[in-house]
Amino acid sequence: MAHLKQQFVGFWSLLVGLRVTFQHLWKKPITLQYPDETWDLPIGAKGQLFNKIEDCIGCLQCARVCPVDCIAIETSKAGKDEDLGETSNGHKKKLHLLRFDIDFAKCCYCALCVDPCPTECLYMTKEYENSVYNRDNLIHHYGTYDMDQVEKLRASVDGKTLTVGIYP
Ligand code: SF4
Ligand code: SF4
Repeated sequence: MAHLKQQFVGFWSLLVGLRVTFQHLWKKPITLQYPDETWDLPIGAKGQLFNKIEDCIGCLQCARVCPVDCIAIETSKAGKDEDLGETSNGHKKKLHLLRFDIDFAKCCYCALCVDPCPTECLYMTKEYENSVYNRDNLIHHYGTYDMDQVEKLRASVDGKTLTVGIYP
């Protein structure tokens, strides 16, 4: 009799253990087949930062507020007769943007740099697949000038450029 009772208890505990399995057996699977499938991120999700460089006026506010110094900017004043145009929301450009680099190896995705940007050219995207094989590739260069142009512009202002942030 004791033997039969033991068998019943064993069978019953097996059924209890399989209860959750049976509950999920007929439900739609929720496994996401990444990377072939990806989640739709919610509104306000903070992915990788992006600078729409055509609208950047080089005001340095983003670099000054960054808690980890991962934005590096170098600017020089435009000449008196130079017209650098305007941003898409009407800010006059008065500075040459020699370099604008973001080091994503240091960025903590806090978005503190986004709010002070007067031209709203700096914003968080939903891009989160940022893996690279080489750390140097985590430094994104947004400047529009090539190094020759940068050197010429530096020479034209006797090297008097304004730099904020630490260049890697
Ligand atoms: S998101 Fe934060 S850490 Fe990254 S650049 Fe902006 S202020 Fe710096
Ligand atoms: S705050 Fe905006 S406009 Fe000013 S330097 Fe940064 S990205 Fe450019």
